[in-house]
Amino acid sequence: MKNEYLLLTPGPLSTSESVRSAMLKDWCTWDDDYNKDVVEVIRRKLVKLATSRIGYTSVLMQGSGTASVEATIGSAIPKNGKLFVIDNGAYGARISQIAEYLHIDQHVMSSSETTFPSIEQVEQIFINDPDITHFAIVHCETTTGMLNPVQELVALAKRYNKVVIMDAMSSFGGIEMDIGDMDIDFMISSANKCIQGVPGFGFVIAKQSQLELCQGQARSLSLDLYDQWQCMQENHGKWRFTSPTHTVRAFYQALLELEEEGGVSARAHRYATNQQILVQGMRQLGFQPLLDEPLHSPIITSFYSPSHSEYQFKEFYDRLKAQGFVIYPGKVSNADCFRIGNIGDVFPDDIHRLINAVAKAMYWN
Ligand SMILES: *Cc1c(COP(=O)(O)O)cnc(C)c1O
Repeated sequence: MKNEYLLLTPGPLSTSESVRSAMLKDWCTWDDDYNKDVVEVIRRKLVKLATSRIGYTSVLMQGSGTASVEATIGSAIPKNGKLFVIDNGAYGARISQIAEYLHIDQHVMSSSETTFPSIEQVEQIFINDPDITHFAIVHCETTTGMLNPVQELVALAKRYNKVVIMDAMSSFGGIEMDIGDMDIDFMISSANKCIQGVPGFGFVIAKQSQLELCQGQARSLSLDLYDQWQCMQENHGKWRFTSPTHTVRAFYQALLELEEEGGVSARAHRYATNQQILVQGMRQLGFQPLLDEPLHSPIITSFYSPSHSEYQFKEFYDRLKAQGFVIYPGKVSNADCFRIGNIGDVFPDDIHRLINAVAKAMYWN
């Protein structure tokens, strides 16, 4: 089955036909051909993708990406711990909302959605609030498409001996990084982003020594990160509760295709090329990106909505969809925008075709 349109969204995104075809079989969750040959291979491959250092392990968790964020926040922070969250977009805000639901003590630094968080301000908070034990940061803030300066922020948190949790949901597999080099303790991502799988589960790659400290700390049974890891570890890939087998098998195929493409560096290059063609083409049509160019990520780009009185997102969206492209509404709080993603089974030729389609969809011109 072919797709009728390309999803230019940050997940679920367009997947290859071979990834979708990998779902056409049922699996028994007790058998080695699923647990050992699929789940365990995925777990090992994920760790390898994340770091070349030893001491890291991975846990897969049912649900959308947010469930894995919630499992991590709810399991990693002890009763008397305190979380410091930088909120410069909807996903930073969501981490803080999770902490609020779970009654976790927190310090939230709200920062502009269109500029980098101030390193000086972050350091002041570490100095002034010694109760902070954990630091959470979003890598690519998908709200705007901004790539936060995680290298500097994580190094700073480490200088103050904090446990670091990074939401790299929309960047892992699409941007080169080594979480071991950065000394990150927990990194979270999901199946339906840059690895180009289908939705259904998330995963956490963690320092094993930190994960072991999570025993008995979870604030939820089904989102107990330690227990989930323990079960997978002891039983060679067995999930505690019903595993999303078809999604997992598709993800395994997606990992093979990432390797065939040439790994994360090749994929990052393709995404970056997509993004450059997109921004250049959109500028030529008169659209302005929300962020200054140095703040852009290769993942997704926000554009200001046209100021013309007849412009309506829904009409624009429908006209693009009719031509085979699905774009994404804006999410920034103080500006009227729409977003176009570059990730998924999407290639430079597709972006060139998109630019032509946008030109045809500009009914207000
Ligand atoms: C997609 C995404 C999430 C998770 O979203 P779900 O809808 O729960 O899958 C979390 N953080 C970021 C930065 C994301 O891009």
